Amino acid sequence: MTARPLHLHGVVLPDGGEPTDLWVVDGLVTYEPIADATTIITQGWILPGLVDAHCHVGLAAGGAVDRATAEQQARADVVTGVTVIRDAGSPIDTHWLNDLPGLPRIIRAGRHIARPKRYIRGFGVEIEPDQLVDETHRQALAGDGWVKLVGDWIDRDLGDLTPLWPDEAVRAAIKAAHQAGARVTAHCFGEESVAQLVDAGIDCVEHGCGLDEATTLEMARRGVALVPTLDNLKIFPGIADQAQSKYPRYAAHMRQLFQRRFDTLRRCLEAGVAIYAGTDAGGNRSHGTLIPEILALAKVGGAQFALGAASWRARDWLGAANLVEGAPADLIVVGEDPFVRPDLAPIVVMRDGVVCG
Ligand SMILES: [Zn+2]
Repeated sequence: MTARPLHLHGVVLPDGGEPTDLWVVDGLVTYEPIADATTIITQGWILPGLVDAHCHVGLAAGGAVDRATAEQQARADVVTGVTVIRDAGSPIDTHWLNDLPGLPRIIRAGRHIARPKRYIRGFGVEIEPDQLVDETHRQALAGDGWVKLVGDWIDRDLGDLTPLWPDEAVRAAIKAAHQAGARVTAHCFGEESVAQLVDAGIDCVEHGCGLDEATTLEMARRGVALVPTLDNLKIFPGIADQAQSKYPRYAAHMRQLFQRRFDTLRRCLEAGVAIYAGTDAGGNRSHGTLIPEILALAKVGGAQFALGAASWRARDWLGAANLVEGAPADLIVVGEDPFVRPDLAPIVVMRDGVVCG
């Protein structure tokens, strides 16, 4: 890259302290003064680029979207400051987005792995338990180091949430993913699936609304991460209302999980579970909605916790560098102290030294 070096002056987070000077040369951060740099920021707070740790690019409510829509989704995310997306399952291969400048880096999970009639139609591959190991291996190779299982969903015969997979099948599938160099995560709404999957050696849990005390402690002990998609859980009462007449037990269960969502998350926080910010954008939720998730997390653990969950701690978890000497210049700048105003309104979003937006 031969772009002119850039210079920013501001408080660099998470360290904070006095404002400092940061330069961007050939897409990388340096704190060594550079002559002839163009100053683009003279005051503000400089944060490592935001991470949406549960996002679906290439997916909308009806299933797969076309390329133009997938690109728009990624653009809607980047303008809010998201420079890294952990894709939690997409029906289309979005690797071609890597070639477009100024978009977030996407860390993919391949397609959701579900069973026939046990998830939203058109979202995932639908297989039976005896195919789970092979499919997990296939999706591990299709993604960028993650596999996404659907851990539970309504069983219409029983009228309630139940796990999709037998214990032995998930244990073998997680092992197969690990052997292929991928980590595994799963959609878990209820109590049973999350207990089963944590016991089977899973690396991360999505939603996790059914976490009880024992499984919470086990997650903390094993270092299993949680992406609660807290703000998006507000769809639960609507799901319950729709299901009420046909599946009253399921409806009551969903309402109960919703009502205790803050308590569940608070217990995870107190137990030391690693918690990250994710929107669940791409199904029914719009892209570009990480800020409401940050604010929801801040209600539980404060602004510093929420910002770490959406930036520096999430980047550490996913192997994306923070703003150290020589790191890719993945950053945002805001005009007000984010520890006081976590409703971030970025004035600059930069990925690999390219100003996005
Ligand atoms: Zn999702």
